[in-house]
Amino acid sequence: MDPWDDEVDVLIAGAGGAGLQAAIEAASAGASAIVFEKQMRIWESSTAIAVGRVSFPCTDLQARNGVADSNELMARDILETGRHKNDPVQVQAYVDHALGTYRQLCQLGIVWSPTVSAMAGMSVPRGHLTDMIDLVRTLRRAAESRGAQVVFQTPVTGLLADDAGTVVGATVRERSGRASRIRARKGVVLTAGGFARDPERLRRIEPRFDRVLATSGIGHTGDALRMAEALGADTRDIEYVQPSFELHASGGTSDDILILYYQGGIIVNARGERFVNESISYKDIARACLDQPGMMGWQVFDSAVYDKAVAAQAAAGQSSPMTLDANKIRLLVKGRALEELAVNMEVPAEDLCRTVARYNDFVDAGRDQDFGRQVLAGNFGKPVRLDRAPFYAYATIGHLLATYGGIAVDAQMRVLRKGQPIPGLYAAGESTGGFHGASYHSGTGIGKALIFGRIAGRSAATRIS
Ligand SMILES: Cc1cc2nc3c(=O)[nH]c(=O)nc-3n(C[C@H](O)[C@H](O)[C@H](O)COP(=O)(O)OP(=O)(O)OC[C@H]3O[C@@H](n4cnc5c(N)ncnc54)[C@H](O)[C@@H]3O)c2cc1C
Repeated sequence: MDPWDDEVDVLIAGAGGAGLQAAIEAASAGASAIVFEKQMRIWESSTAIAVGRVSFPCTDLQARNGVADSNELMARDILETGRHKNDPVQVQAYVDHALGTYRQLCQLGIVWSPTVSAMAGMSVPRGHLTDMIDLVRTLRRAAESRGAQVVFQTPVTGLLADDAGTVVGATVRERSGRASRIRARKGVVLTAGGFARDPERLRRIEPRFDRVLATSGIGHTGDALRMAEALGADTRDIEYVQPSFELHASGGTSDDILILYYQGGIIVNARGERFVNESISYKDIARACLDQPGMMGWQVFDSAVYDKAVAAQAAAGQSSPMTLDANKIRLLVKGRALEELAVNMEVPAEDLCRTVARYNDFVDAGRDQDFGRQVLAGNFGKPVRLDRAPFYAYATIGHLLATYGGIAVDAQMRVLRKGQPIPGLYAAGESTGGFHGASYHSGTGIGKALIFGRIAGRSAATRIS
């Protein structure tokens, strides 16, 4: 075997939420740690460009907002949302370590918006909103101040294993283009994100994904999954990849994401017809939207929902999918009456008016005969009539912001092969699968990265042998 070019205790692939957390923990446990990042800057990861809603149970912020939550309730919500296809061991690990991670972030100086919100999958509001650029900068500072190094423009290109199958290091491509072999004395942690920008793999899952916009971090080309698969690693939940229904049809970033159907709006297609229960996960709504004309839908709501979203913006002090800021207000189509709204949306007015009237009848009767909507979102809130003019619509498409399925891991974030840990190999964040199951409890994409990244870093740093 060629000599090593460098060595370190813990080698981490990818400087997003999971990788930086792994570095902080590994360094805090006394290990030397290097994070290799493919991109040039810290703010190119999905973590950095995310909306910033993170799901934690039992926080002081929930208590201040009068919300009673529990680990058991959150675990149940995640499993029910995932249609019990989730790995219960990972779900338990999430809730066991969520509050500790929230407190760690508070100690590092992360500031949360004063309100908490309910979205897909939640029985109670547990979405905690923060500024993600600030978060990744803070994590990077915390990692480096503990002695970890973050090296940019240096992708990890492969894993190196010894004859016994133990991962002993990785190859990286240095800025100069030179390939280097880095020994990892304690372990390699894969935190290189998902595969929303791996068209070949996506096409194998669903050919129509070719026409779905990918908005994940640009490094999400499935590298972690490919490297782990090359060593025979197990995978989970890859078949459940779905877009998320929330992005403005002309949009491309978190700024253009709006989810007011969870606040009382409905969703109609280009014919002015409802096609889905609006309270289910926005991933499942996106799945249904793939079958609609132009693979798009309209969020339709009245001025009561509009006013609530404008007030939520003021209360949160930060834009989010549940709030209306000036940018999103500009993107709305408006009508003084439903007929005028329909004309402006270019959908048949008679059909839209009939759809809304029928929906309002369902709300009055307490039973949605068409799609069974009983709540606003998850297990939360009661549907409301849409009858206060003016009316609004937001042209919405599904986008691939995250892939959710990936490398199989256990509760210590050890990568599994035929159900057994591969010695020396760990993974965390979006590169892993199993936690979400068949659908998505909101706020657990970032949550999973931040919580499981810590576990992976500590597991690698404290590995015996
Ligand atoms: C627009 C948008 C909005 C979102 N909003 C939310 C939200 O509000 N709440 C929520 O819970 N989730 C949200 N998500 C999902 C969530 O942000 C991600 O699932 C999560 O942040 C992933 O964290 P990560 O550390 O696994 O990946 P990342 O943060 O993307 O980090 C992975 C890093 O690895 C790098 N990399 C890739 N390949 C290599 C390689 N070979 N070598 C070295 N480095 C490599 C990448 O460049 C990247 O920087 C959103 C995602 C997007 C795109």
